Amino acid sequence: MDLLDTLTAKGLRGEVPTREEALAVLATTDDELLDVVAAAGKVRRRWFGRRVKLNYLVNLKSGLCPEDCSYCSQRLGSKAEILKYTWLKPDQAADAARAGVAGGAKRVCLVASGRGPTDRDIDRVTDTMAAIKDADPEVEICVCLGLLSDNQAERLKAAGADAYNHNLNTSEGTYGTITKTHTYADRVDTVQKAHGAGLSACSGLIAGMGESDEDLVDVVFALRELGSDSVPVNFLIPFEGTPLAKEWNLTPQRCLRILAMVRFVNPDTEVRIAGGREVHLRSMQPLGLHIANSIFLGDYLTSEGQAGQTDLDMIKDAGFEVEGAGEATLPRHRADVAEAAQAGHASGGCGSAASACGSGGGCGPCGGHAHAPSSSAAEAAEAPDDELRSDLVKVRRRGAGTELAPNA
Ligand code: SF4
Repeated sequence: MDLLDTLTAKGLRGEVPTREEALAVLATTDDELLDVVAAAGKVRRRWFGRRVKLNYLVNLKSGLCPEDCSYCSQRLGSKAEILKYTWLKPDQAADAARAGVAGGAKRVCLVASGRGPTDRDIDRVTDTMAAIKDADPEVEICVCLGLLSDNQAERLKAAGADAYNHNLNTSEGTYGTITKTHTYADRVDTVQKAHGAGLSACSGLIAGMGESDEDLVDVVFALRELGSDSVPVNFLIPFEGTPLAKEWNLTPQRCLRILAMVRFVNPDTEVRIAGGREVHLRSMQPLGLHIANSIFLGDYLTSEGQAGQTDLDMIKDAGFEVEGAGEATLPRHRADVAEAAQAGHASGGCGSAASACGSGGGCGPCGGHAHAPSSSAAEAAEAPDDELRSDLVKVRRRGAGTELAPNA
């Protein structure tokens, strides 16, 4: 297939495909699917070998958010019966983080619901990061607190944060149908603030919200242009009690095509299968590992994942290995870009690098919860059978915020 030969050749050189080629990946047939996975796998192995980076989510503050992100079980007015609690104490968060690191996680992702942090919240997270790094100085910490105000990214960086997550989620053109309380531009601004402060950029998307192929390609190219070092690909978890509860329009095959398209557009960037992995890829999860080089271990913010040991077994059975703490995730040339950005920041000149290292701080999407917007885009994409699938979505009842041990 000429398309796949072209995409493979470009990916092996670290080149980005054209927009038309990216769209063509999404239009491939089921007969072509294994060839698509194999082509994306060659690119994945070129830059990341057979390593799988494990990330571990700690939900520092759950639910009761004033924002209205339609996919989110923590949103304003959500009737999803999720855990709701205010800020974990530093030692509680450190206990949860320790479980994830003991399970093999290299990065801990500290997430809090809300529009954005207050300066007092930055103090809380600073204390939490200190407690985590006291126990394990090598662990990477990514912080995800929503929209940042001036100087907050710099404070997080100075306190030891390695990365900031804020997802773009969907295309600029459809963002207003997903969320009304903030804008796509607000999200881009926070990614740029984080990057400008020298934090590694983690920013991704959510698929399955009723978007078109063009929307998916738009957001993935936007992430590439922002320079995101890691791109979490979330598959909408239609949570009962949220606007998108009936939005079941993904198949395992569709998810694999989306992952492959993201890989071809980001050949040398960490591509992470995030929320919705178990729910939508189901028995096809191991094929996803041939495309993505990173997953979350165990549970999500408000929903449960498969057992942590099952994640580890799956990685081993598929012929992959967990990336160690001492191993670099990004290929050298990409790491050089990140280091140059940080050096630029240290010398006071970070502006020119703002488009080279996007990060994504964004609460919610990583958490594997989902709702549909009450927008026309969501209504147009309503699942044909219009069913709730509560059998596939299990609310998290263990780990952070509970008396039960974390799943790691
Ligand atoms: S994604 Fe974040 S900002 Fe949006 S509703 Fe959920 S917790 Fe609030």
